[in-house]
Amino acid sequence: MSTSNVIEIRDLHKSYGALEVLKGVDITAPRGHVVALIGSSGSGKSTLLRCCNLLEDSQQGEVLFEGEPVRWTGTGQARRPADRAQVTRIRTNLSMVFQQFNLWAHLTVLQNVMEAPVHVLGRPKAEVEAAARKYLDRVGIGDKADAWPAQLSGGQQQRAAIARALCMEPKAMLFDEPTSALDPELEQEVVRVIKSLADEGRTMVLVTHDMKMAADCADHVIFLHKGLIEEEGPPEQLFGQPRSERLRQFLSATM
Ligand code: ADP
Ligand code: MG
Repeated sequence: MSTSNVIEIRDLHKSYGALEVLKGVDITAPRGHVVALIGSSGSGKSTLLRCCNLLEDSQQGEVLFEGEPVRWTGTGQARRPADRAQVTRIRTNLSMVFQQFNLWAHLTVLQNVMEAPVHVLGRPKAEVEAAARKYLDRVGIGDKADAWPAQLSGGQQQRAAIARALCMEPKAMLFDEPTSALDPELEQEVVRVIKSLADEGRTMVLVTHDMKMAADCADHVIFLHKGLIEEEGPPEQLFGQPRSERLRQFLSATM
């Protein structure tokens, strides 16, 4: 099915037991667009991101990948994706970059980047190695290919994690606070890479506490508050003329 939306979420509800974390949320990530998710700690940003690639189950609402709805079995707390092959296909097409870079300590940087394309996608090793070197260059650490993760700075490790996500050739990338574990002086090198990916037209959903990065990278910003979208719009509007009092308070506390 052809659609210009890589990810669409409609009226999503998600609870952890009795705790309702998402209370009816809609998001759309059109191809080539960057959507930033902002909001206080505990507002449900990570949960929403994990619902996009089905790392979390949800109890109500729809998740669509390239216009194709996820098929469910069961209802309410018992609802699960019905088709494992569909889940795998969606997950391998939505690469996630976490706050903690989660590199394999026993693999070199190059081996880290090659791991999933070779072992999950079954792509030929020589072809993947060439791609991996290209992506390591792309994020500015081509010279670190044979280093161990522990020999890299936090900023370099996070860029290796971004190269690893890129090497899956995903349809969209999901970032969960990619700079929040970094020292301030290392943050900028990661922000620059993410900005350059935005500029080359990659589809991304970016959870961030960095309002400047959200303003610089995003086409659309969503402010999540207690599991609901409190306000959304283009960055100029959200950061320049926030309408909601809660958003104004949030911005004055973070900027
Ligand atoms: P954010 O990323 O905006 O900080 P989260 O999505 O991580 O928010 O969390 C939203 C709420 O869900 C919080 O109250 C958090 O404690 C709760 N929560 C997150 N993950 C789990 C889990 N695995 N089990 C139970 N509660 C969770
Ligand atoms: Mg989070």
